Amino acid sequence: MQRTLLMIACICMALRGLAAVTGMQAGVGRAVITPDTQPVWLAGYAARTTPATGMLHHVWAKALAIEDGDGKRAVIITADVLGLTRELTTIICAQLAAKHGLTRQQIFFNASHTHSGPVVWPSLSVCCAFTPQDQQHVVTQNRMLAERMVMAVDHAVATLAPAELSLGYGTAGFAINRRKRDIAPVDHTVPVLRVSAPDGTVRAILFNYACHGTTLQGNNLLINGDYAGFAMLELERAYPGATALFVQGCAGDQGPEPRGTVAHAAAYGKTLAEAVERVLAQEMKSVAGALRTAFTETRLSFRPVGLDVFRAELTGSNPFRQRRAERVLYAFNAGSPMTDIPYPVQALRMGETTVFIFLSGEIVVDYARRIRRDYPHPDLLVAGYCNEVQSYIPSLRVLREGGYEADDSMIYYGLPGPFTDAVEASVLDAVATVCRQLGLTPTSRGE
Ligand SMILES: [Zn+2]
Repeated sequence: MQRTLLMIACICMALRGLAAVTGMQAGVGRAVITPDTQPVWLAGYAARTTPATGMLHHVWAKALAIEDGDGKRAVIITADVLGLTRELTTIICAQLAAKHGLTRQQIFFNASHTHSGPVVWPSLSVCCAFTPQDQQHVVTQNRMLAERMVMAVDHAVATLAPAELSLGYGTAGFAINRRKRDIAPVDHTVPVLRVSAPDGTVRAILFNYACHGTTLQGNNLLINGDYAGFAMLELERAYPGATALFVQGCAGDQGPEPRGTVAHAAAYGKTLAEAVERVLAQEMKSVAGALRTAFTETRLSFRPVGLDVFRAELTGSNPFRQRRAERVLYAFNAGSPMTDIPYPVQALRMGETTVFIFLSGEIVVDYARRIRRDYPHPDLLVAGYCNEVQSYIPSLRVLREGGYEADDSMIYYGLPGPFTDAVEASVLDAVATVCRQLGLTPTSRGE
């Protein structure tokens, strides 16, 4: 009996000493990003014509700073918005470089893609029939958003302290492939990163799932984080003092169903939180070792479209096509025709086996499945909606099938038309580039 107790005591002491052994440190920060001035225009549904009338719960920016034993850092910033823009991330990165010496490749952004969060200008500006005053008001609110995101990182860096990181996987089944085609892949994986203090107290829970934040629809005028917002609240109630960070997955073609009510959003939030809690209750794999980060940018080309198409749209009756045509023709007349867009891809490697791939845009689920197949050894988290959300990113399959994610959505993003067939290879090449920089080689590429 005494010997057993002694052994348990030794194991406990060994576990407590783990953080010191791994040398990992982590810090967490958060800030409310619900605009404090009125009106608040919500992003996500072109049919909305009036601003928010109130809120269900606050929307947040949250930051997790991680540092390895050699002092190398990475910061993951999540925000309950539809998508971030290059305009905003550029401002934030400049401030984080000046304040904390962080380089671009050390700063990882993810948007939850809630369709009930504040507009981030100029994303989807084609959907907004704003007056110049409305536009100026939103830009001013976005300045506050940038300040709050920097504040969240300030706090995360200031609270860096010895930590134990561990990873596990669960599943949640409420996302469906909303295209409902013959081939309708889904990704129900729920990767979970737990960050604990040396005494075992959970400080942060980062979790990932691929599903549009569209449980609440265009008739909803209450600010909230959709199912992901409810899931984070649920986890923060279950783990007092911990910060829950939701990282959106490759959800371009993934959505919740049935949907439409606050009760649906709360129920999906609970389902996801329970999936995360089941992972936290099991044995998780320790994450420790050197932090490595990589960032690259490729370009995705559009199929050529004759200007006559846009001249016709300009005089048509569809206001979204009119505004898209104005943008396309303005760019052409200014001497910089829209032929392609930049596409950032980023990766974070922690120790030998844990790799987070951060893909931008509304990228469809095929990419997550393909990357898992190509890189089967590491413990992977594949996120979409990272850094900036510039358009939908179809796979070749989705592009060839056509439909909203391949084509029609380009109207609302103010872009000239579908990508060329090179889109998938361009994205996967960029993934291969960052993985190579992190010492990973694909095992089944080209199959
Ligand atoms: Zn979307």
